[in-house]
Amino acid sequence: MTSLASNIHQLIRPHVIEDGLGGYTPNEPLLVQLQDALKPNNGGGATSAGGAKLPVNATALALQQDIAREATQANVTMTGYLINNTDQILHAWDTADLTLEWSTYLATLTTTWVNKIQKLISPAKPYHPSRPCPACGQRFYGEERNPCLSVHWIGTDGQVTHPEDWTMECESCGAEWTGDSLGAIATAMKSREGL
Ligand SMILES: [Zn+2]
Repeated sequence: MTSLASNIHQLIRPHVIEDGLGGYTPNEPLLVQLQDALKPNNGGGATSAGGAKLPVNATALALQQDIAREATQANVTMTGYLINNTDQILHAWDTADLTLEWSTYLATLTTTWVNKIQKLISPAKPYHPSRPCPACGQRFYGEERNPCLSVHWIGTDGQVTHPEDWTMECESCGAEWTGDSLGAIATAMKSREGL
């Protein structure tokens, strides 16, 4: 699968993602998850000055509008046809016979969307490396067999923080690592694609 095909797949179809434990877990289409994040109680839910929930998640709405505009513009430039529906545009790109230039451009464009949606829908989820704890050697603990290791690498703003600010803890033995012991974190993070 090319990166464009893979991005489109994640954006418009149910798919599976790595669960960080060496297995896979089902995931809704990213555009559906973005739509869900518009609801005020999801996706970080912005609050007004008075503390009341805003009617929509403004960040999610802005991202959805950006994606729709960028998709429409790219599609008009490429085909000359105006389609005002992101889903339909992506379906068209998926089956179109694209030039190398366009397929490269659209792959980059859709990668940005995938990354932005993923940041928005999972702002502060810790990452669970599929590695044994460097201190106690366990990978799972408890009756639920939860992963021992949690790496906290996303700030409260939903952005990836500087590696020096990452922390890792083992929920089984209680060991903790901070930026001072980046070696252990880096080793545990190596199982994560792209890092
Ligand atoms: Zn441990």
